[in-house]
Amino acid sequence: MVSYNEGMKIAVIGAGAAGIMAALQAARGDGQVTLFEHNQTVGRKLLVTGSGRCNLSNDNLDPSLYYCADPEWIARFLDTFGVAELKEVFEKLGIPTIKTYDGWYYPLSQSAQAVVEILRERLLEAGVLLRVATEVEWFSWKEGQFELKVNWNERKTVEHFDKLVVAAGGKAYPELGSKGSLFPALAGLGHTVETISPALGPIFVDLGAFKALKGLRFDAVTSIYLDGERLGSTYGNLIVTEKGFNGPGVMNLSHFVGLHPDQNLELQVNFLAPFWEGMAEELADLEKARSSLRGLLLRALAPKAVDFFLSQAEIAPETQIKAVEGEQLLRLLRVATDNRFMVRGAGDFKISQVTVGGVPVSEVDPCSFESKLVRGLYLVGESNNLAGPCGGYNLHYAFGSGILAGKHLVSSKDNE
Ligand SMILES: Cc1cc2nc3c(=O)[nH]c(=O)nc-3n(C[C@H](O)[C@H](O)[C@H](O)COP(=O)(O)OP(=O)(O)OC[C@H]3O[C@@H](n4cnc5c(N)ncnc54)[C@H](O)[C@@H]3O)c2cc1C
Repeated sequence: MVSYNEGMKIAVIGAGAAGIMAALQAARGDGQVTLFEHNQTVGRKLLVTGSGRCNLSNDNLDPSLYYCADPEWIARFLDTFGVAELKEVFEKLGIPTIKTYDGWYYPLSQSAQAVVEILRERLLEAGVLLRVATEVEWFSWKEGQFELKVNWNERKTVEHFDKLVVAAGGKAYPELGSKGSLFPALAGLGHTVETISPALGPIFVDLGAFKALKGLRFDAVTSIYLDGERLGSTYGNLIVTEKGFNGPGVMNLSHFVGLHPDQNLELQVNFLAPFWEGMAEELADLEKARSSLRGLLLRALAPKAVDFFLSQAEIAPETQIKAVEGEQLLRLLRVATDNRFMVRGAGDFKISQVTVGGVPVSEVDPCSFESKLVRGLYLVGESNNLAGPCGGYNLHYAFGSGILAGKHLVSSKDNE
């Protein structure tokens, strides 16, 4: 590999997934890489990902699954950096990966802590200057260099760098470090900063009688509607809470709530979708049907849910499939599949996993992550206005964008 950065001073702000990778890759060249992190340690958010197991990628990466203003842009990124590329980098770092039957990738150790410890070791080996407990308060572009205002223990310094990687994250889970404090500095450099809102969080609705299902989990197809028009649909596990729904089955839709504040949003939860085909076959052949309707529903749903749906549909629990009337069946389907819940809000930044908003992707190159406005400035991870669903899509993007930026810093003419 040819390194074009001899003697170059490179600053990376933020030791999350994106910043750690950018620093590691950039340190393979001849420049001096400094990684600023205002937490006491690196990878604080990484530690809590995947419930402590770090779900780092997914076999089903697809541009259409990302919330992104430009599908072509995210497609170019995924073409350049897919699962194979991620696995290769992790393997080289000494972090072998495994995947679940449905294609979700984790470290072999199934431990986010192990991932963070290995990454920290690699940073030190690579000669990255790690400056933890150090806040970058501001940056600007002056006389051909990036000027950073740095605060370590109230000792404030002004430092200069040739290249700057902004990997300071979004605003989700602010107690883990990312508070969106550097978006104004990016705006100061001429970048657009689109409205920030939380994503991948619970959705609050008027549950009405469905409150009776509180605490129950379902695998369901959930859709969100704006003035009757469907904005999106997702399949996954959800839990009924006091205020609405939580879990991957709704989290993938929560960004729509932030994007359409105070508008007429409704949620529809199809509790039967994954099982309906099998049930419908049975219902179609009433003559052969042997069990009660309750018995049929119990194959897929908990008794509490079955009794709730039957009572809402005004069907006696002992009703045999053979005796079900068409009108009763329609009522059951309406309750269990075609319900509509008025949306009252979504989780705020404190309980939502990612951020939408930030710098539009149109201002960043999808293969090098260099700013199209300021040469030598790189924007990676959640700085960009983009979000994926649950399942490793966000870490894939954060790691991948950091890696591509770091590679470009070393070898802008010849990415290896
Ligand atoms: C509970 C939870 C679980 C998740 N689970 C998954 C999962 O399993 N799979 C998945 O794909 N995604 C998951 N995510 C999302 C994923 O963690 C993020 O998308 C990803 O970490 C974003 O990486 P990043 O490097 O852009 O930002 P961050 O990880 O937020 O890192 C940014 C870093 O910059 C530092 N920083 C910010 N401002 C400054 C400053 N001014 N000076 C110095 N340092 C600064 C912060 O302290 C932070 O360490 C989860 C998120 C949460 C909250």
